[in-house]
Amino acid sequence: MLDLDNTLIHSRDVGMDPSIKQPSFSLIDSLLHLYSAEMNPFRYQVKCRPFLAEFMLEMMPHFQIFFYTAGIRNYGKLIMEVIKHHCLDSENIPDNLRPVIEQTFRPERLIARDDNERYVSQLERVMNSNNLQNNMGGGDATLKLNIFKSLKALAGDNDSIFVILDDRDDVWMNDLGQLPQNLLKIPPYFFHDTPGVTSRLQSFAKLFFDLNKYCDLDMALVTFKEYLLQVHSNFYRNFDKKKGNKQLTDIKYYL
Ligand SMILES: [Mg+2]
Repeated sequence: MLDLDNTLIHSRDVGMDPSIKQPSFSLIDSLLHLYSAEMNPFRYQVKCRPFLAEFMLEMMPHFQIFFYTAGIRNYGKLIMEVIKHHCLDSENIPDNLRPVIEQTFRPERLIARDDNERYVSQLERVMNSNNLQNNMGGGDATLKLNIFKSLKALAGDNDSIFVILDDRDDVWMNDLGQLPQNLLKIPPYFFHDTPGVTSRLQSFAKLFFDLNKYCDLDMALVTFKEYLLQVHSNFYRNFDKKKGNKQLTDIKYYL
């Protein structure tokens, strides 16, 4: 289960235009993997985290991937399209991976804020008296609203084969104040300066720009890719031996 904002991408609002018709996106910097994206009435700039394509392409054959955003559903779908394009833009994609890519980026693989009806927690009901429609823009909506995430809509009470990758852990707190044991917290990725949310230190890419160095050294997705491949390998090693041993069939044991 992959979070979008600040885990895989960093997007920022760059204005509104009510004349926008269809959701669309275009690549504006192929070196930085920076996209322009729009859906009525918002325009965004979407920066793919370094090594995002490599991460996705290596995860897809091993994990069934779902995306989770606290943003609205159309925003999540637009971001998924950007990430899909970014993956397909890579060199040397094996032919047998292409159908997997198509599957991975289908809308059914997205859980968004609009789906909240299905899994809204008691904690969220109590804390969130705001109208969710107040925040329609991009970026991490959990920063502005009391939105909590849960796997219940997808996994019921059985989360034994899920791994969650998210830059926020507080949003995964359950009604008892507990955090899921299968949550991996990745350092948040900030590319754009985001007033009020990010400090100048967090937006370290900007420091490089100011120094006229055209690079972005965030390596978190490489690290988590290697780690998750190892978890996958450990989980499925000697699979038949696990029969009857509940602990060994729970991925949390391997994290
Ligand atoms: Mg996030």
